[in-house]
Amino acid sequence: MKIKAIRTTPLTVPYTRPIHTSYGARDAARVVLVEIEDDRGNIGYGESIAGPELQSVKRLLDNLAPFLTGRDPRGINAIIQQAMDRILSLPGAGLNHFARRVVAGLDMALWDLVGKASNVPAVTLMGGPLHDDVGYYAFINGDTPEELAIEGAKAVATGSPVIYMKLGRGDDLDIAMVSSVREAIGDARLRLDPNEAWDVMKARDMCRRLAPFNPEFIEQPVPGHSLAALKQVKDAAPFSIAADQAIHSPADVFAYVSAGAADVIVLGPHETGGIAQLLQAAVIAEVAGIRLCIHAVPETQITTCASFHAARAIANIDDANQEMAYLLAESLLKEPSLELRNGRLAPWKGNGLGFTLNEAAVARAAQRAQEEHQN
Ligand SMILES: [Mg+2]
Repeated sequence: MKIKAIRTTPLTVPYTRPIHTSYGARDAARVVLVEIEDDRGNIGYGESIAGPELQSVKRLLDNLAPFLTGRDPRGINAIIQQAMDRILSLPGAGLNHFARRVVAGLDMALWDLVGKASNVPAVTLMGGPLHDDVGYYAFINGDTPEELAIEGAKAVATGSPVIYMKLGRGDDLDIAMVSSVREAIGDARLRLDPNEAWDVMKARDMCRRLAPFNPEFIEQPVPGHSLAALKQVKDAAPFSIAADQAIHSPADVFAYVSAGAADVIVLGPHETGGIAQLLQAAVIAEVAGIRLCIHAVPETQITTCASFHAARAIANIDDANQEMAYLLAESLLKEPSLELRNGRLAPWKGNGLGFTLNEAAVARAAQRAQEEHQN
């Protein structure tokens, strides 16, 4: 089995409504679709997110094509490690996190391709599932506390046991948003994410003000570069604290769990540079008695499928993970529908990652990305 061709296509898929975070509002998921074809005509699909810039991510992936062509796609670990080294030019060079994001799309496409070529679902290649279905939370969005409350009530009414919302939009607005959402969702579980917006003193103050609303955990309240800051907040908080932007690799997980700096690890395949490293990171958290909550970035249904296969093979997977594809205005997939039942996603049939692309939707997304590039 040999890799014959690699194709990359920038895609823009708009959200149904803007997503507000402490980093600003976001209107669309921008990704580079990666297709890897083998010498028997099997095609594996993946996607790399387009941070910091879509065309440069495409160019880095295109530059890897000669290195990938002719190789056996079943050597996923070696291919991904060497692809990262090539992006960084030298092993151990900087920009490690960025290189992980670029190669994540290759990794997904390889799991998809090798699964299809071997006639098995990707989770079988990971050692087989430990879980049948996977739980997800409802990520609610809105411009105002009132809009958020309506979204929260809707999510609870459709059976979502866990609600997640962004903070970091200003202290008083944050408190008003949490207050109205808590009132609307009753005693449903509530998770809050200020996305690094606070320093230690502010985070401690906000934890005191938020405690009456009984959050299950607060995610990365302080900048991701400081383990000490997260540990200080965690040691003072009356609820659990999760590490997100702090963690990109198995080594980061080791540093945080051995320092007792996080109660939950939040991580996804775009941060780790693909599924293999995500599985390794999960095991390190598992032996520390800490659960792993799979997280999304502005990605599409392609990543939801990849993350789902990985989640089924992770022993210490959280019961409420993140997926952001349902916030998009359209699906890039013909199937599966990825519809949740009471916040849970059940497996579907199919080899590799098991999805079929909706070619018309992909073409529309490619057209949008092209128009953005020209403007
Ligand atoms: Mg987060």
